[in-house]
Amino acid sequence: MTPQVYGSTRGDCPPLTFQDTVLAGLAPDGGLLIPAAWPDFSAQLKAWSQLSYEELAVAVCAPFVDFPPDALRASFAAAYRSFRQPEIAPVVTVGPVRIVELFHGPTLAFKDVALQWLGRLFADVLERRDGRLNILAATSGDTGSAAIAGVRGLERVRIFVMHPHGRTSPLQALQMTTVLDDNVFNLAVEGTFDDCQGIMKRIFRDTVFKERHALGAVNSVNWARVLAQIVYYFYAGLQVLRETGARRLRFAVPTGNFGDILAGYYAARLGLPIERLILATNENDILARFFRTGDYSLDTVVPTLSPSMDIQVASNFERYLHHRLGDDSALTRQVMTDFEQHGRLTLPPAARAADPLFLAERGDTPATLATIRRYYEEYGYLLDPHTAVGVAAAERHLDPAIPTICLATAHPAKFPDAIRQALGQDCAHHPLLDGLFDAPSRCEIMPADEARIRAFVTAHAH
Ligand SMILES: *Cc1c(COP(=O)(O)O)cnc(C)c1O
Repeated sequence: MTPQVYGSTRGDCPPLTFQDTVLAGLAPDGGLLIPAAWPDFSAQLKAWSQLSYEELAVAVCAPFVDFPPDALRASFAAAYRSFRQPEIAPVVTVGPVRIVELFHGPTLAFKDVALQWLGRLFADVLERRDGRLNILAATSGDTGSAAIAGVRGLERVRIFVMHPHGRTSPLQALQMTTVLDDNVFNLAVEGTFDDCQGIMKRIFRDTVFKERHALGAVNSVNWARVLAQIVYYFYAGLQVLRETGARRLRFAVPTGNFGDILAGYYAARLGLPIERLILATNENDILARFFRTGDYSLDTVVPTLSPSMDIQVASNFERYLHHRLGDDSALTRQVMTDFEQHGRLTLPPAARAADPLFLAERGDTPATLATIRRYYEEYGYLLDPHTAVGVAAAERHLDPAIPTICLATAHPAKFPDAIRQALGQDCAHHPLLDGLFDAPSRCEIMPADEARIRAFVTAHAH
């Protein structure tokens, strides 16, 4: 088989290897990187249903990477040593749905599944190239801790994470600032998340500075993150097909940046028999609107109980759009440029028909709280608020012949305020989080001043 190459959704980029793709993150023309060829796994599914999570990860990812199976196996083994559940992504039956628990990683959110592996990939690729990398990130809370956990202790990587001082939840701040490894720098910026993100974007636009310091990003558009997420659709899906004898599946996915559900879309494309993907948003419903009515237009972000889904521009959406436009790069570039200028996306008439793979639902605060309460009282299972948005959407579309698997994206103990609001009691705990309040922490408090942040990075970068 010829090695896989990657190109940009906007078409203006020479072919890249997998390793280039991992380090680049974004394509140089502003598009997103996607593989040139798609294997078909449907003939392997039966044999694969016996594999362990790590064996399956190797089988699914091998056609997409450019290093040997042994190195791939070692990267997954190293990545998932940090999981407290040897099964990595256990599937449980709760009431009318199945739940795949993706929150057994070090920061108790599904982002660990991808970021623990991405950290290993950075280490491997930089070792082969004798390179170094300085990651600069801005976070409103959740992604920062998973990114830090993914690269802590790596010799060739340093990470600088800006968060808005005093504006994340105390727990979220502690998940970042209690990591004391020498290669981790937490910057508590006296400003908002938008200030942090603005500073990051301006620094990244300075290509001289970026190259001098080998600056990189870990955002959710990195192809390796999407690839790692495809694995658990196969893992949970094959297990449920085997147990139920069903022939098709549904997945319900709490959605923000469209990274998680995009992996489900690709799993279907690779041959997993997915009948529907149920896309669940909270009140920030740009994606639900798009899949229901074709309207993709910007609105303002409202804060909700499920903060990791509080987004407007879904950074991974461009990959889906590219496929919806028949893999036409020129058209993708035109539609995206137009969207960037006008805040509204206009599909050409040939791409307007609804995509039958997707069902979209918008949740809201009362329904989310009611779902958390009902699942706790009726089934003794505690849902985090993000997972509850997905479960509520799934319940609107139950079909006795087609099992529904809901992705559980976070452990409930990460969101104690929402749980308290739903149940009137403080029952969401996890020893990893309870321990944080007594742990030593380290963090630089900085003004929201680009020059000061640059100076800090210059002084502490590799
Ligand atoms: C990031 C996140 C999501 C949203 O995932 P996307 O890939 O951005 O769609 C949902 N739930 C939790 C807990 C998250 O951290």
